[in-house]
Amino acid sequence: MERTQFYEKVKERLIRYAKVDTQSDHYGKDTPTTQKQFDLARMLCEELISIGASEVFLDETACVVYGKLPSTMPDGGGRPIGFVTHMDTAPDAPGANVKPWVLENYDGGEIVLNREQGIVMSPKDFQNLLGYVGQDLVLTDGTTLLGGDDKAAIASVMTMAEHFLTHPEILHGPVSLAFTPGEEVGGLAKDLDLDRFGAKEAYTIDGDHLGYYMDETFNASEATFTVKGLSVHPATAKGIMVNAADVAAEFLSMLPRFEKPQYTSGREGFFHVIAVNADVEQAKVVLIIRDHDRVQFRHREAYLEKCAETLQAQYGAERVSLSVEQSYRNMKDVIDEYPFLIENLTEAIRMSGVEPKTEPFRGGTDGSALSWRGLPSPNLSAGYENAHGRFEYVPIPSMEKNVEILIRLCGLFGNMPAE
Ligand SMILES: [Zn+2]
Repeated sequence: MERTQFYEKVKERLIRYAKVDTQSDHYGKDTPTTQKQFDLARMLCEELISIGASEVFLDETACVVYGKLPSTMPDGGGRPIGFVTHMDTAPDAPGANVKPWVLENYDGGEIVLNREQGIVMSPKDFQNLLGYVGQDLVLTDGTTLLGGDDKAAIASVMTMAEHFLTHPEILHGPVSLAFTPGEEVGGLAKDLDLDRFGAKEAYTIDGDHLGYYMDETFNASEATFTVKGLSVHPATAKGIMVNAADVAAEFLSMLPRFEKPQYTSGREGFFHVIAVNADVEQAKVVLIIRDHDRVQFRHREAYLEKCAETLQAQYGAERVSLSVEQSYRNMKDVIDEYPFLIENLTEAIRMSGVEPKTEPFRGGTDGSALSWRGLPSPNLSAGYENAHGRFEYVPIPSMEKNVEILIRLCGLFGNMPAE
């Protein structure tokens, strides 16, 4: 496959970034959850300065890197646009001592990732490989994740930035960049300073399969159902004992049988019990609620409240309680008010010779939270495959294409009035 002018740039960058361990920790109490994310943050900060980006800043507390590219339009105008990508990697597979390597011109067969340990990646297990025959792939040695999620996106963004700064004749509006920590442990980019970031609209770049974009996520909340039981000796319990475990079981039996993750797909929502802890004296059930549709989502929350009320009526309001906490909301309700975000994105993807594709995402993104904080942020795929595991890989042409898509996208925003 023919290499573009971006080939060496994105390859070198992904490999360099992947070698920096930035793994998040589910149980970390600090911000960010691991301090080692600063290693990459500092590297990116220096790199932004060295390529000539403006207003480069590292938030030493929150571990967020900022930078800007001034407009090159003749009048210095254009509509500002931003890109948000995350620096951390998932805790699901080992993330230290990543040894990325490049397989050139993939032949469609099995790939030996690690001869010593006999670790092989086969298209029989990973059919997505067959879409990349003839391409150069960045791979792991089979013992760690790669971290192409989301460093493939950082490599593309940084390469776009460098290209713009070395080619001031290419027209684009003002561009804001941010590299954030903690996405893999539900960080939701909560420490992104929107004033410092500058742009009023943005894209997150994350996710697999080149050309996919996303403007619809779940609405999400977490519910905690608790019971205070009354323990007495079982021999003399009649009419007195309240067995908290039994009440919890009753609550669980009220959940609709098939509205669970294992029975749903597409735009079907669900209840998902993630933890049950119960004995006679106390019980606690934690469950999450998910639905794309806002009205259905509210119905689900109301349904749980009704279950709790029914049990309160039976056992006493002081014994049974339910609390529901919102996690994130579907970005679509926000994004729909900014139709140009998807129009420009799909146009830029098409102009780059890729067919744009989308489907409702059965999860949330940093963009779900950012959108509701006032920074509408649909998502463009970063182009990695098999994320969060040892078989993760990144086709180099997907990163090259993303550089092209981003360049065209910034051009389209340059042609829009500032406000
Ligand atoms: Zn990611």
